[in-house]
Amino acid sequence: MDHARSAFRLFLMVMAAALVLALYHWGRGHPQDLPWTPLSLADPVGRFTNYKIAGLRDDFPACRLLLDDAAEAYGVLPPAREGGACGYADGVALTQSHDFSYAPRAEISCPVALGLFLWEKQVLQPAAQRHFGRPVVRVDSFGSYACRPIRGGREGRWSEHSHANAIDIAGFRLAGGHRISVAADWARQGREAAFLREVRDGACTMFSTVLSPDYNNLHRDHLHLDQAPRGGWSFCR
Ligand SMILES: [Zn+2]
Repeated sequence: MDHARSAFRLFLMVMAAALVLALYHWGRGHPQDLPWTPLSLADPVGRFTNYKIAGLRDDFPACRLLLDDAAEAYGVLPPAREGGACGYADGVALTQSHDFSYAPRAEISCPVALGLFLWEKQVLQPAAQRHFGRPVVRVDSFGSYACRPIRGGREGRWSEHSHANAIDIAGFRLAGGHRISVAADWARQGREAAFLREVRDGACTMFSTVLSPDYNNLHRDHLHLDQAPRGGWSFCR
């Protein structure tokens, strides 16, 4: 009886060791899918990418190192404080990314800038090439920082915009001048609408909140992207 019990115990220990070893090997090939590995912009976007980016809200130096690695040309904004609930300490300004300009320049938290970098490289430009055969050269935005509560939300809840931790994207210009706008093209059938839905869906892996005209009427003319801390979950509509 004792023999059988110790053999079974040994079997369990071997199985547990094999499981740990298998997980370790899998994790080395998929660091983007594990919550405790450091973020690298060279990795594919994975299950925990937006969680890691949003977590950099508390570590401006680490976030800036990643922006430097990405060779993003950005300026550091002086800390802003306005009233009790508004302001930011990790603001950056982006005028020009690798491939396109921001109009007006994007004044955003560092984690939003990281999300935009990944979005551009892994979602926007591949989608633009696939649907139109040319790249995006300009992103039109309605701005980022605004000291205000969530519109249409419960009273007293502050928007991520009040910490520059969000950006509202109105549309895109392609090389050659073609213009794609959320207000005009979302509801139409066609490649512009397909492109807009694809870039909305793609943003969900690198931003913690993505709101589009599908969410409510307040978002009928833009995509809202933010890096609210959600503990690894994203909210995409
Ligand atoms: Zn917004």
